[in-house]
Amino acid sequence: MKKKSLISWTDFTWNPWRGCSKVSAACKFCYMFRYYNRLGIDPKIVTKQEGNMNYPLSLKKGEKIFTCSMSDFFHEGADEWRNEAWEVIKKTPHHTYLILTKRPERIKECLPEDWCRENYAHVWLGVTVESQNEVHRIKTLGEVKCEIKWVSFEPLLGDIQLGKEELEIIQWAVYVFKLNWTFAKRVFS
Ligand code: SF4
Repeated sequence: MKKKSLISWTDFTWNPWRGCSKVSAACKFCYMFRYYNRLGIDPKIVTKQEGNMNYPLSLKKGEKIFTCSMSDFFHEGADEWRNEAWEVIKKTPHHTYLILTKRPERIKECLPEDWCRENYAHVWLGVTVESQNEVHRIKTLGEVKCEIKWVSFEPLLGDIQLGKEELEIIQWAVYVFKLNWTFAKRVFS
């Protein structure tokens, strides 16, 4: 029996593969790199975790599942296995899949052939925006048809100003609580 996640905004994490490569300033703080380096495992090698692939099928109750907390779901190194993961996702509409990426430019080419809101309304696609430089990811996300689009502002590396256009794209956001409230109100009000 796997334990519930310690991440406040999800119930479980699911890692059908692990490993990644750094693409963004936020990657400097990547806990996956720290974790596998400590274990003497190369975090740059993207590896399928065969035993984890069907894990969501074992959860009978609907759960929020943060998908690929130890990789990036849209990393090119996982192209070979992603359709298997989509199959599992499709078979488990009672869950909500929280998929977060720093590679939104790859989302469209990596979606399953039958992607549409009706089939995958339980998939929430999100992007990390750690600084003003990465706000453009929200617009790229906006090009994808998806039930819920979201942003993670973790780790927050500087002030971020979102315009009306970006705010109209996203429905949900997660951010560090030490964020000053004046700033938060400005962004989300
Ligand atoms: S994209 Fe995510 S998993 Fe990949 S190196 Fe950056 S922080 Fe780590």
